[in-house]
Amino acid sequence: MDIREDDVAREDALRDTVAIVGGGPAGLAAAEVLSAAGHAVAVYERMPSVGRKFLLAGRGGLNLTHSEPAPDFLRRYHPSGSLGRAIEAFPPDALRAWCEDLGEPTFVGSSGRVFPKAFKASPLLRAWLRRLEASGVRIHTRHRLAAFEDGTLVFETPEGKSWTRPKAVLLALGGASWPRLGSDGAWVPMLENLGVAVAPLRPANAGFAVAWSEHFRERFAGQPLKRIGLAADGVIVRGEAVVTADGIEGGAIYAVSRALRAMIERKGAARLVLDLRPDLTLRALADRLSDPRPGESMATRLRKGAGLSPVAAGVLRESAGVALPADPDALAGLIKAAPLRLHAMASMERAISTAGGVGLSGLDAGFMVRKRPGLFVAGEMLDWEAPTGGYLLQGAISSGRAAAAGMAAWLAEDRGTSAA
Ligand SMILES: Cc1cc2nc3c(=O)[nH]c(=O)nc-3n(C[C@H](O)[C@H](O)[C@H](O)COP(=O)(O)OP(=O)(O)OC[C@H]3O[C@@H](n4cnc5c(N)ncnc54)[C@H](O)[C@@H]3O)c2cc1C
Repeated sequence: MDIREDDVAREDALRDTVAIVGGGPAGLAAAEVLSAAGHAVAVYERMPSVGRKFLLAGRGGLNLTHSEPAPDFLRRYHPSGSLGRAIEAFPPDALRAWCEDLGEPTFVGSSGRVFPKAFKASPLLRAWLRRLEASGVRIHTRHRLAAFEDGTLVFETPEGKSWTRPKAVLLALGGASWPRLGSDGAWVPMLENLGVAVAPLRPANAGFAVAWSEHFRERFAGQPLKRIGLAADGVIVRGEAVVTADGIEGGAIYAVSRALRAMIERKGAARLVLDLRPDLTLRALADRLSDPRPGESMATRLRKGAGLSPVAAGVLRESAGVALPADPDALAGLIKAAPLRLHAMASMERAISTAGGVGLSGLDAGFMVRKRPGLFVAGEMLDWEAPTGGYLLQGAISSGRAAAAGMAAWLAEDRGTSAA
């Protein structure tokens, strides 16, 4: 292998640097903590710029965290364990204060979700990068980590291969969703070769495939199902979903996606039950459906009696598969519990986040790989998952900061000559 020690890597080695690989929110959060603790920090990022997924998250307003009480908040993480402790050490309020300190105050939306007032990610990322630059953090873009052996990081760069040997390494390489933004999960074999246990990467917070009829797909793909209830394997939520050409997606679906994915993994298909009028009791709905006018069509009855939108009525028909029952009790029962068969989860390319990754049990309390002293891991590449709602960025940033604190403590014990 033709590997050069390029100027960048040589200077970093001379400065007794700690290396962070991955310039997403977890890696940048770690860089901030380590440089504040007095370490020379180099961040290596494979893409031409850092924080690409963070910027994409900003297109939806950048849901940074959530305002619900701490016990409820922590229950969203599976598993919680050391990640829960990282969040307790840097909780949602601290994240909001950090944002404000960067000149980007936040607000709590009607759903309890927290957003920057600017409602986008770019001003926050710009301010963050200015702070990192001012504190001396060096960011090396177009550096793809290709190998990690005997404490040496080998990068592929546009000029060829280069290497560096930092005193400690923090990997924050993300999961494998939306791979064109940089995180592609290609690190899995590299870490497995180091003896690190990695749970298979799988899509999380993703849509599901439904075999819609041609007619339904053509008419309703792209339309929202508003204010519905969903139940899957005992998990019940309310919210909004969107009908797609090949299935169903959206916030309420993501909230039950862990349960649905588990069912598909177990049985090859999952049963999702929709309540298309969660605000009405079964009795009230049946009463509204009784005494139809003479000659009233089923479409009118669903629209006027049950108050269903055309897409909700369409879903009901797809669910039944046969003519809908005329009996008010039976019809109300179906509207309140319309089963849908989901036969696959959307691919990783379209998932919001990734389940699986480096097992938390293989890490110590400071997020250091027990088998590889000097090697730390943070962010979405760890084996945890959470629904959308701000929990993902909070988990990435809190774990990045906790891993950085773990590394600083480890280095303070004067063991840090070289990583792993
Ligand atoms: C469409 C979309 C919307 C989202 N919206 C929200 C939201 O509103 N709220 C929320 O909480 N979460 C949201 N998320 C999720 C959130 O963005 C991620 O959970 C978060 O970015 C994970 O941070 P991370 O630093 O662990 O990983 P990433 O952000 O994925 O960063 C990892 C970095 O490592 C780099 N990298 C990977 N491999 C290598 C390598 N070999 N060498 C060098 N560099 C490498 C990547 O290029 C990347 O820059 C959204 C995600 C998507 C896809």
